Formats: sequence, structure tokens, C-alpha cells
Amino acid sequence: MPKVNHLAGIACPDCGHSQDLDIEVLATWRVSQAGPQRLRGKCEWNDDSRITCPICKTTGTAGTVRDFRQAQP
Ligand SMILES: [Zn+2]
Repeated sequence: MPKVNHLAGIACPDCGHSQDLDIEVLATWRVSQAGPQRLRGKCEWNDDSRITCPICKTTGTAGTVRDFRQAQP
């Protein structure tokens, strides 16, 4: 099975970092009186999700993944 690059076309607009980025994701957790527990399943994000570069801490101009998308050649 080929590897999928989940960050293809996404990089920090200030320093160019693209190895790993901090993105707020949507995921489903089961919350009980004892606390939250992550359920199996995928987490999701889109161009409107909040993002931060872990290297230079920039969030772009609007702080969304859209800001980090690079123009395709
Ligand atoms: Zn950066």
C-alpha cells in the first residue's frame, strides 16, 4: 500500500517547514464521568482548520490551513 503524504502542498508560509504541523482536528471521543477516551477512527481537518507551525510558531495571516497551502506549479 503506498504511503500517503497528508501534508502534500502544505507548508509554513514564513519558514517553509513542512515535516510536521500543528493542526486542530475533528475527532470523536467518548466522554464519561471518568473523563474522555479517544475512539478508534480517523481525525479530519480542512482548509478552515486552525494551524500553527511548530518551528516558528506562525499561524499565517488567518491562522488556517488555507494560509499554509502552497500554490501548485
Ligand atoms: Zn514556520
